[in-house]
Amino acid sequence: MKRPEFCNEAFQNFSKPETREKLQAAIAALESQLGREYSMIIGGKRVKAPDQFISHNPSEPEQVVGIFQTGTADFAIKAIETALKTFESWSRTPAEDRAAFCFKVADLLRERRFEFTTLMVLEVGKSWVEADADVAEGIDLIEFYGHEVVRYGGTQPLVRIPSENSELRYIPLGVGIVIPPWNFPVAIMAGMTTAAFAAGNTVILKPSSQAPACATRFVELLEEAGLPPGVVNLVTGPGSKIGEALVSHPGTRFVSFTGSKEVGLRINELAARHQPGQIWIKRVIAEMGGKNAIIVDGEADLQAAVEGVVVSAFGYSGQKCSACSRAVVLKDVYEVFLQRLIDRTKAVTVGDVRDQANFMGPVISLEAMSTILNYIEMGRLEGKLVLGGNRIGTRGHFIEPTIFTEIKRKATIAQEEIFGPALAVIKAKDFDDALDIVNDSEYGLTGSVYTTSRKKMEIAAERFHAGNLYFNRKCTGALVGVHPFGGFNMSGTDSKAGGRDYLLLLTQAKSISEKIA
Ligand code: NDP
Repeated sequence: MKRPEFCNEAFQNFSKPETREKLQAAIAALESQLGREYSMIIGGKRVKAPDQFISHNPSEPEQVVGIFQTGTADFAIKAIETALKTFESWSRTPAEDRAAFCFKVADLLRERRFEFTTLMVLEVGKSWVEADADVAEGIDLIEFYGHEVVRYGGTQPLVRIPSENSELRYIPLGVGIVIPPWNFPVAIMAGMTTAAFAAGNTVILKPSSQAPACATRFVELLEEAGLPPGVVNLVTGPGSKIGEALVSHPGTRFVSFTGSKEVGLRINELAARHQPGQIWIKRVIAEMGGKNAIIVDGEADLQAAVEGVVVSAFGYSGQKCSACSRAVVLKDVYEVFLQRLIDRTKAVTVGDVRDQANFMGPVISLEAMSTILNYIEMGRLEGKLVLGGNRIGTRGHFIEPTIFTEIKRKATIAQEEIFGPALAVIKAKDFDDALDIVNDSEYGLTGSVYTTSRKKMEIAAERFHAGNLYFNRKCTGALVGVHPFGGFNMSGTDSKAGGRDYLLLLTQAKSISEKIA
């Protein structure tokens, strides 16, 4: 049966009592089974390592989400050998069959939506709404790439000449290493993994050590969908050891990474080194950090701008690559905007995300909290703290939504990615100045402009250097197929995940021609 055309998954409506009760029941069910020990999965076999590590609930760090294997270089080598072997058969699997796996996986994830939503609430401290959106995006990416596999597997447009019959085929690359971050532990992890295997490659998934449960459950779901053993192999453990062993191995054909600038650059460097026996240049797809800005123009709906900045800066505690960390406000509306922003931010609820009432949850770990609090200390020196600035309580990793003013455009907290709930509000002389400020960054991921002026929108469309630019809406919440996602400069290789160019990165084109006259 033909798959219906792609359309984005609807979000759950938690204001409905029955939906709320369903999620509450899912949280209770999952909590009663926490603490299980998970294995790595190599060639379909469950594999244990001598050492283990623990994944904790950041809202309540004593709660153990699961126990995971600390893989070493030996396991990395075993996984690559398995993936190399499986590539021989999987790379010859017809595109329609690979697409069918994607659709099966998307359907299964739809069925298990509440389970994965709950897992993120507990493992990475996402609010219900954020966790639900993450699963919806995961389903979208898998479904979208399924359709893309069919398109790339079909006839490609070429110029015809009378003397030859020509065709262009997109063929897989080989063994890919998929290294996702923890902050979209379903959407990004599942999207990167699925795109890689759907394009005919075999995969070693090395999940973030902060979110191994989400990844392991997903690989179990791939098994349920009937994906042959060895197509996706799961190895867990520290990126600095097992991750580097995977990236450096001569059998690795490509690396698909999403995470910080520092790690992305390190991976790029390691992958560039030619290893004995390696017969290709490794391809690196690296999506990295951001220092995203929202311009609030003098001609703008200020209420909408306040709402957009608050949601972009403090949604998921500022832990999105697309989060707004600089609000650049035109001087004529600066005072009134700032006051309204502070008032609105005071209403942001912070706490354990098992409680639906909390808009903002914890930051991911004790180390992340300490890094963010250090940036906040720096912000106190570089500008004026007008709201927040403190840890909340002593149990989970909670930080108050924090706002600074009087921050210079070159200040550390206006330049470095903080990845927490801290926002710098910067005053601009005019629209030109605002564009200079937002572009004064090594990053170029997302951005937004609130203005009612069509002319300024056109100027910003030309000059605002960001991979994903929005007008009169938040700078987070890219929708698959609608807003292909990826950044410029130090934000990465601009892979445009969830867009029609993405599978190109995971394939190579073979041109085949026959002389006929
Ligand atoms: P990290 O860079 O710390 O980690 C990302 C992944 O890399 C993890 O799986 C990690 O494993 C692994 N890793 C760490 N060191 C190495 C290494 N030396 N070699 C190979 N792999 C390694 O990022 P975070 O997980 O903390 O994610 C947050 C970052 O991701 C932010 O900078 C954010 O902006 C960015 N991001 C970018 C997105 C984009 O689309 N541009 C989207 C989402 C996030 P381990 O956990 O074991 O260390």
